[in-house]
Amino acid sequence: MDEALPGERIHGFPGGLKLEHHKQIACRDPVERPPLPERLFIPMRQHQGEAGRLLVEAGERVLKGQALSASGDDFIVPEHAPTSGTIEGVINHPAALPPGGTRPAIVLRPDGEERRAPPRPLENWRERAADEIVDHLHRAGLAGLGGAMFPTAAKLRGGWSDLHTIILNGAVCEPWSACDEMLMRECARDVIEGGLILARAASAGHVVIAIEDRMGRVEEKLRDARRALGAEQDVRIRKVCTVYPEGGERQIIQALTGREVPHDGLPQDLGVVVHNVGTAAAARDAVVEGQPLIERIVTVTGPGIVHPRNLLALIGTPFSHLVQAAGGYRGHVTRLILGGPMSGTALAGDDIAVTRGSNCLLALTREETPPRQPTLPCINCTACVRACPAKLLPQTLFKLVEAGKYEAAAEYDLADCIECGCCAAVCPSHIPLVDFYKHGKDELAQRNLDQRRAALAKRRHEAREQRLAREREARQARRKEREKKLKRSETEAQSEIQAAIERARQKKKP
Ligand code: SF4
Ligand code: SF4
Repeated sequence: MDEALPGERIHGFPGGLKLEHHKQIACRDPVERPPLPERLFIPMRQHQGEAGRLLVEAGERVLKGQALSASGDDFIVPEHAPTSGTIEGVINHPAALPPGGTRPAIVLRPDGEERRAPPRPLENWRERAADEIVDHLHRAGLAGLGGAMFPTAAKLRGGWSDLHTIILNGAVCEPWSACDEMLMRECARDVIEGGLILARAASAGHVVIAIEDRMGRVEEKLRDARRALGAEQDVRIRKVCTVYPEGGERQIIQALTGREVPHDGLPQDLGVVVHNVGTAAAARDAVVEGQPLIERIVTVTGPGIVHPRNLLALIGTPFSHLVQAAGGYRGHVTRLILGGPMSGTALAGDDIAVTRGSNCLLALTREETPPRQPTLPCINCTACVRACPAKLLPQTLFKLVEAGKYEAAAEYDLADCIECGCCAAVCPSHIPLVDFYKHGKDELAQRNLDQRRAALAKRRHEAREQRLAREREARQARRKEREKKLKRSETEAQSEIQAAIERARQKKKP
């Protein structure tokens, strides 16, 4: 039953698609921990933002939970050792993005001993100031587990005076991803306690957990956990119907509140903050157990997997290892997708490593991946417009990006595209629309970066010029001073000579 307050209801949002669900094939077994892999490849930068300062070097032995990098900036998330072992160095390791590209990763060879660094819980969190909790979550390496990996501390901090509600998003949009459902089934208490901790950190009074209306026993588990924690007054459970992409941040807010996040605004402008349910459980582990974020549940599923299931994987575990733990591949796998078929990223191989945002690995076989249809010209049918949940004009954005008019596409709010793939799914011309949007965003980001670099170079050049001018002036002042001194001493010497001549003259006088 949806726990709406009087006058509340579940609202719709524009566009979206009803998709066939396949989550249950991975939910037949409990979540399991796979054996330790031979090596972990912990990406130096998994979150949105810069990488932290490296604290370890090759050959160093580390303990489970020990910090591998550090930062004093909310947007730079530190990494921790997922298990004990030896650091082998930092290498460029295959990454999901950019496709086929690499990113620096810390290589850790586990020793199998699971020796832990001393845990650092935050005692009495209910009595702590909001900033103290946010600082603790930052040190524990929290970033969103929903996929976007936005640094949690940066989301919580900011002194939003009207913030009243933390929304815990358990409504996963993608049709195969079941990790959040399994987390809520098996660790409902951790999710609720984590939600209360996040609410305290954001100085918000309420927690709303959004779940899908097809999640069966999840609702009952959450209710039991809430009762056990005595949190009936603070936490509500709301059920949303499964229309893709309901789990998007803006869409879930609109479904629950009926209000739209302003195009150039943030959820905080409406008094709410959205966190994934996995992030809430990780916040609880960090505060209550003193364990940094070193693992997450990953759904390994699809017709190309022998035993689809959910695995509790250490950050840095190669996906090939998880596939083995799920019984290996079955049939002729033609496509591997990280995330899901709608908004996921096609992988070049399974050697990439698990990050905080890795929620699902989907293996599709030849039967589910018919040959790609030839792309035809746009016929202006507007089917994409009707499907777009962000109220954009997908066909206009496509034409502008295709023509290389990136700034014009930005004027048409390209940045608001959530890359949900609804437009591409309904396009009768089979245009890979989302690929164009991703490319357009990359170009704009690159241009912004180039502009920022140019501005930085200009600032540096100006600063250098000013420094040189200051040094020149100082040199001139010193030279003048030297000349003055010289003149003074010449004058004094002259006077002394004159005085000596005068004295000599006086002596000569009879
Ligand atoms: S759905 Fe495809 S063909 Fe139709 S308007 Fe959009 S881009 Fe053009
Ligand atoms: S991918 Fe972007 S443009 Fe297409 S439907 Fe989703 S939000 Fe709209």
